Amino acid sequence: MVLIQVAPLTRLITDIFRAEGCSDAEAGRIAANLVAANLTGHDSHGVLRTPRYVWLLREGQLRPDRKPEIVIDAGAFVLVDGQHGFGQTIAPLSVELGMRKARDGVAVIAVRNSGHIGRVGDWAEMAAAGGFISVHFVNVAGSQLVAPFGGVARRMSTAPFTVGFPMEGAEPVILDFATSIVAEGKIMVAASGGTPLPPGVLIDRDGSLTNDPLKLYGTAADARNRGPRTGTGAIRAMGEHKGSGLALICELLAGAFTNSGCCGPENRINANGMLSFYINPSALGLAQSMAAEARTYLDWVKSARPAKPDGEVLLPGEPERRRRAQRLAEGIPLPDDGWASLCETARAANIDPMRYRAVSGKLDPFT
Ligand code: NAD
Repeated sequence: MVLIQVAPLTRLITDIFRAEGCSDAEAGRIAANLVAANLTGHDSHGVLRTPRYVWLLREGQLRPDRKPEIVIDAGAFVLVDGQHGFGQTIAPLSVELGMRKARDGVAVIAVRNSGHIGRVGDWAEMAAAGGFISVHFVNVAGSQLVAPFGGVARRMSTAPFTVGFPMEGAEPVILDFATSIVAEGKIMVAASGGTPLPPGVLIDRDGSLTNDPLKLYGTAADARNRGPRTGTGAIRAMGEHKGSGLALICELLAGAFTNSGCCGPENRINANGMLSFYINPSALGLAQSMAAEARTYLDWVKSARPAKPDGEVLLPGEPERRRRAQRLAEGIPLPDDGWASLCETARAANIDPMRYRAVSGKLDPFT
């Protein structure tokens, strides 16, 4: 494992995307979002995505500095097309639009053809910081990864579902998860020597359950040549038939309704679709009563006796905040394999990753 501080890591990722043709502002947004995912403990959506983003950029499947195009503006409903721009540019613009449109109550924003929007919780946190409740259904057109309940072949993306609930004067509740048992990136992290997968998260074509990440990625020995299309297995949907059903709904709302495209069967360009609902409790006169009841309820939930003597009941969003505080202080751990691939991506963009050693703070990332 390599331990690297937030500042040099953010500078390194920013410099890579700037060298690959993104504006300073966009390169900074991409770096901030990827590093924020690492900070919250979601390494699957962190800086290890950089080589794949760069590859997509070079292939023309991701385009730098795109402005989303408004396809339908029907008042409280807007459909925007992300033009295969970076999700780190398209998603925050769609959240700003949602909050503006929901100023007097509610709004629904549909996004299609966006590049990878990363950790969806970031966008729910952004809405919650503005005082808005938000609900997000997301899918990935072209990403066949997850077997439906009762099947072994891939028919769904990891289709995340996310809700942000603001708490006046306190931290928001942020529920944010992939509808597969684990997000694909967690399998990428395991395949790169990071945290091993729990048992039975994958199903192979013969119906056997496994946690071998190469069942998804095939046998390519090094991280650069690993792709999720080469394995024989599929990720399982969470929660048996219920999670599989929620994933299906994400595909329908974020893929079919937005016209971003559902998972397969054609070889589509990978793109995130997202259908988001924004509610402004203040404008509806419900903010105070909501805050009082929610505070009482959440305190009561947390007061439940822990199942284990040293355990604790946590609210959605709490594990991420704790991890953020810890990693801000200690640095971000990256698996050796993933760090090597990041350095290689930097060198391919004529950036010497060793330069970032000088600003690495109290922990040396190269030891
Ligand atoms: P996960 O399994 O770690 O679940 C995270 C959720 O569970 C969070 O809301 C967290 O606060 C809550 N949680 C975790 N431990 C808890 C505990 N002990 N008590 C109470 N709540 C707890 O997340 P995941 O499914 O691996 O997803 C990881 C990330 O991947 C998410 O941020 C998601 O948005 C992202 N994702 C993005 C895409 C995309 O296409 N952009 C696709 C899939 C997933």
